[in-house]
Amino acid sequence: MIYDVIVVGGGIAGLMAAIEAKDEQNKVALITKGNIFKSNSSMASGGINAVLDPNDTKELNEHIQDTLNSAKKLGNKKAITYMCKQASHIIEKLVDYGVSFDRDEEGNIAQRPFGGGKSNRTCYVGDKTGSAITMALIKKAKSIGITFLPNNFVLNIAKYQDKVSGIITLNKENSQIIVYPSKAVILAGGGYAGIYRGYSTNAPDYTGDLLAVCLRAGLCLKDMEFIQFHPTGFAKTNYLITEAARGEGGYIINSEGKRFVNELDTRDNVARAILKEEIEGKKIFIDLRHLGVEEIKTKLPSLYNTALIQWDTDLSEELLEIKPVAHYTMGGVEVNMTKSEIKGLFICGEMASNSVHGANRLGGNSLLESTVFGELAGLNAKEYAKQNEYSPIDYNVVVNDINMIDFIFKGETTKNFNAIRVSLGKCLFEKVGIIRNEQSLIHAFDYVKYLRQISYTLHCISKEKNNNVELSSILELRNALEISEAIILSAQKRVESRGAHFREDYPDISSTFDRSFLIKELKKGFFKISFKENDILKFIKNIFINKD
Ligand SMILES: Cc1cc2nc3c(=O)[nH]c(=O)nc-3n(C[C@H](O)[C@H](O)[C@H](O)COP(=O)(O)OP(=O)(O)OC[C@H]3O[C@@H](n4cnc5c(N)ncnc54)[C@H](O)[C@@H]3O)c2cc1C
Repeated sequence: MIYDVIVVGGGIAGLMAAIEAKDEQNKVALITKGNIFKSNSSMASGGINAVLDPNDTKELNEHIQDTLNSAKKLGNKKAITYMCKQASHIIEKLVDYGVSFDRDEEGNIAQRPFGGGKSNRTCYVGDKTGSAITMALIKKAKSIGITFLPNNFVLNIAKYQDKVSGIITLNKENSQIIVYPSKAVILAGGGYAGIYRGYSTNAPDYTGDLLAVCLRAGLCLKDMEFIQFHPTGFAKTNYLITEAARGEGGYIINSEGKRFVNELDTRDNVARAILKEEIEGKKIFIDLRHLGVEEIKTKLPSLYNTALIQWDTDLSEELLEIKPVAHYTMGGVEVNMTKSEIKGLFICGEMASNSVHGANRLGGNSLLESTVFGELAGLNAKEYAKQNEYSPIDYNVVVNDINMIDFIFKGETTKNFNAIRVSLGKCLFEKVGIIRNEQSLIHAFDYVKYLRQISYTLHCISKEKNNNVELSSILELRNALEISEAIILSAQKRVESRGAHFREDYPDISSTFDRSFLIKELKKGFFKISFKENDILKFIKNIFINKD
């Protein structure tokens, strides 16, 4: 089957994009790696930021300013302004699609405070905002005739000269390679925090696959060193204790019962304050007891029920032990308002770097980013598909993918690739985590290089072609290692501390680095990092070439 627009990703960005790209002439398909209902978007809990009155310029400017402040001079004002200005329209659209935001006594959409924001601007559906939005968008997409293609693992982009010509996927149900020709492609594959396996709120299959796909297609990644650690993961399982818990008045206390940080400070500051207490041997807890049972049940129903049913903890009477965990990735594929360097290829959501978050993201701004830029990507792709014809497919890339899958099936292995994935997560959290230094980054780089070599020798133990999870695991591990190199090299180059990137050997911010790094993979394992002057789309200075 041939489509005018192919969207990869069934999170909020991909769904918004697909809905906008569809009209009577345009055939649109939406590809997901697994089940359409499974995404980080559907796990988002706390809410989405918006100034609801578009004429309230004071509030709008404050939203823009809070976002710029959090970005620590790496934010793009044009993109941030666009995002904040579109917010009220996006909320109206979501309501129209059936999202029932919580309302106050007067019937207005209720808004709660979130960290780093000067006013209450986070709209929510209890603590299930992401799943409420995702379900409404899935229904809308289905009703307008978008084709869902689940269980398709995207391996590479097909392109012809400087234009996209389609997508190459692995059908997970039978391990066959499929080529989907398309006039325009939208990538919305989510972030890469899942590579911190065992130390992340993300599902373990969030391995930055589509960022690796873009690297292989010759595109640049930007700001890869900026990984957001959420201060409040449940200590035992990494389950996210939503920021709404602090927004609604929850305290963070240590094992001496003392509050030691402003709970509504930005996430980087709160996470570092917690880590320092942990290094001193203290345990850290979230304390909601003073809110009372009714307030907790009304405002944080999922959290209350999960704690009670799964962890046997009544949050109106007991504390919950927490720890910071990898949660969100500010880095992504360099784009200019969703447009990539490949014609007809648009990128949105967490995997894109439009520079709306810079060095740190405000809670509630990523659902906003995903909806706003998802919509824009859809509009751009629709227009592109109307003005352009299909480009030829370069079958060399397809043949390479077929050979790669054959190779993984054919040989025998003694290596336990799941153990490798776990040890990669541990290495990244300990050495490329909340606090980094030159030595820790060198150790991490050497280890990742070693694992990357091993990853190309791995084979499936089971030779079953139908639903072979080992095959996906190996492919995800390879992508995760490719992305890990990009993170570490970028973190090594940023010899300062800014936003979510904290170097204990360079604890201060430096004006020399008021710019982003772009990283490109010239060939497998050979990266090139360049400075990017803010808002200027060209390499200024080639400062580093990594040799294997
Ligand atoms: C637990 C949790 C709570 C959060 N709470 C909030 C919140 O309250 N407010 C907020 O603003 N943000 C929140 N976030 C962040 C926010 O949810 C995400 O940034 C946002 O949902 C990303 O949306 P997305 O559409 O870009 O990608 P995702 O929702 O991550 O979807 C990615 C899609 O890409 C597909 N995909 C990936 N790789 C491949 C491949 N190789 N082939 C085919 N398909 C592929 C996946 O199947 C999936 O469908 C939270 C995140 C988490 C993890």
